[in-house]
Amino acid sequence: MSLAENKSRVFSEVQTACSESGREQDSVSIIAVTKYVDSDVAGQLIDTGIHHIGENRVDKFLDKYNALKDKEDLTWHLIGTLQRRKVKDVINFVDYFHALDSIKLAQEIEKRADRTIKCFLQVNISEEESKHGFKVDEIDDVIDQLAELKQVELVGLMTMAPFDATEEELENIFETTDQLRKQLKEKNIKNMPMTELSMGMSGDFKVAIKHGSTFVRIGTAFFE
Ligand SMILES: *Cc1c(COP(=O)(O)O)cnc(C)c1O
Repeated sequence: MSLAENKSRVFSEVQTACSESGREQDSVSIIAVTKYVDSDVAGQLIDTGIHHIGENRVDKFLDKYNALKDKEDLTWHLIGTLQRRKVKDVINFVDYFHALDSIKLAQEIEKRADRTIKCFLQVNISEEESKHGFKVDEIDDVIDQLAELKQVELVGLMTMAPFDATEEELENIFETTDQLRKQLKEKNIKNMPMTELSMGMSGDFKVAIKHGSTFVRIGTAFFE
């Protein structure tokens, strides 16, 4: 399959998932996760009509950013775990950071960012030990501590489902995340609009869209 064919297929599958859930297609942004390919291939994919690019590691994010930053209309997403000591190297090139998973990390972003960074609070709904993110019962306390920050804007929640989750578990994880987002939105906290949901990857984006995802992070399906 060519990149252009894969791009058309992914976009039309997202469109189908949207119409099956009675949602507008432009309510879901498709992030192309380019971690499997080099900057040349990522650039070719972008030229098929991609507007959101995502990388999960700082070094690879910076490689892609330096090679491709002059392309028009591109929004840059850092979607993976960020170590505190690396915040200063990368944060000012990031439009959306998807994996805010500690208070200390938020404080470091507050210190290093020279503008407001749109962040997703990562939540670990399934409570898998291997997954990053806050557990549901930690959230209220975390929200209180983050409410004072000026450079960290919590646009929404991000979650990752276990790779071996059943359809029923996926439904449950994504729905719980959306409910939690709604509760936080109702608090009307200034730096926490909580309008967005970052959930869904190549294997589960259809279920995620059904439960309100607004950013799907898709890698494999573009490059198979
Ligand atoms: C790699 C990655 C993705 C994309 O996963 P695919 O299954 O290849 O679509 C999404 N989110 C994160 C955080 C990733 O690291």
